[in-house]
Amino acid sequence: MASGKEREELKKKTEEFNQDWTESFAFICNTDGLPTCLICHEKLAHNKKSNLERHFTTKHTQFAGKYPTCDARKNAVEELQKKKKTVKFHAK
Ligand SMILES: [Zn+2]
Repeated sequence: MASGKEREELKKKTEEFNQDWTESFAFICNTDGLPTCLICHEKLAHNKKSNLERHFTTKHTQFAGKYPTCDARKNAVEELQKKKKTVKFHAK
């Protein structure tokens, strides 16, 4: 009889950005609350793990191959986030 609440919670869960996705798929949450790819800056329309996973595994196979371990990928993602925050132009 109490399946309504459970379903609501499940729905909420799937629609919220999961911080783990940053390390796993190199996605960050943008100001709209939607996942944005740190590698190609593509914005996805839904906070769905399967969408992020598909994007990452189909478009960024090289990245996944280059950083196969959790630690290596975490560092690489952190570097990408730093780059995004500090957009520097080399003054000539
Ligand atoms: Zn991408």
